Amino acid sequence: MKFDQLYSSSSGNLYTVTDNNGKRLLIECGVTWTRLIKALNYNLAGVVGCILTHEHKDHSAAIHEVMKSGIDVYASAGTFEALEVSGRRRNKILGDRTLLGIEGFEVLAFRTSHDAKEPLGFIVRERETDEFLLFATDTSHIRQRFQYLFDIIALECSYDNDILQARVEAGDINETLARRLLTSHMEKTVTANYIQKHCNLQRCREIHLLHLSGDNINPQQTREEFESLFLVTTIISRGTDAKVAYSQSKGRCVMKIDTVCHYCGKQINPFEPQASRGKRPMTSKQIALEMGMDRHEVARRLPEMARKGLIMRQDRDGKELNNESRIARNR
Ligand SMILES: [Zn+2]
Ligand SMILES: [Zn+2]
Repeated sequence: MKFDQLYSSSSGNLYTVTDNNGKRLLIECGVTWTRLIKALNYNLAGVVGCILTHEHKDHSAAIHEVMKSGIDVYASAGTFEALEVSGRRRNKILGDRTLLGIEGFEVLAFRTSHDAKEPLGFIVRERETDEFLLFATDTSHIRQRFQYLFDIIALECSYDNDILQARVEAGDINETLARRLLTSHMEKTVTANYIQKHCNLQRCREIHLLHLSGDNINPQQTREEFESLFLVTTIISRGTDAKVAYSQSKGRCVMKIDTVCHYCGKQINPFEPQASRGKRPMTSKQIALEMGMDRHEVARRLPEMARKGLIMRQDRDGKELNNESRIARNR
């Protein structure tokens, strides 16, 4: 079983699970049709179906073309209803805790918590190899616990509470957007906590972090933190939605954000041991690369980011330009 993040952000989502025989199951179709077929190397022959978590455009944009091309789409009744495509020939309804066979795959759907009609997460099993994938995005948390030994875990890791908090205090993000992230998307610590508490990693070979919100999380740092915490290869998609989030950052918002465990209600921070060692901020070059931002955008925002300790500035030889910016954010 192979899992690929082709697009993963609030500007578009497309993932594939490929089995031993090269057959592919799409998860989401939230990009334009042109992008979708290009990402699949113009080869739809091996596509066995498309499972969809919810109706939001960044997950479902190409649904009409996908159906037209003869690919079956699997989603909840509520999702089809919201997309106004109920009853179409290519639509197959997936219910909460229902197991469904799609060629060499078995899919088990479960409910997630998001501002959508009837959002789902999935467990995908490849029958031939008996490998398991856990997939959930666009959810504030995951209520269910599973007994499976997952080979691949792909979970949303949308924002970092500390970064969001700092942006809220600086008036860099508007209240509606911040609130939406808080109530509908999964925070870094919640993702880490779920894996730590509820996933047996005995067989896990890859952790994929999905749907990163560019300005509200540091991708490189998060990847490193997960790897050192779980000792499992951690993969993030290259294109995050830094630009989208930034263009919306106007207005002032004052509120206190706490990271609270959804199960026990206690304050949590599984990253504590790493945090106390002190973090090295990213260089501007890393930021441009990791966030998929163009270099002009990075250049424009350098002073502000350096002030917040999110990056350090370097000259051509990699020497730091000022000492102040080196000081990592205190946690
Ligand atoms: Zn989304
Ligand atoms: Zn959504």
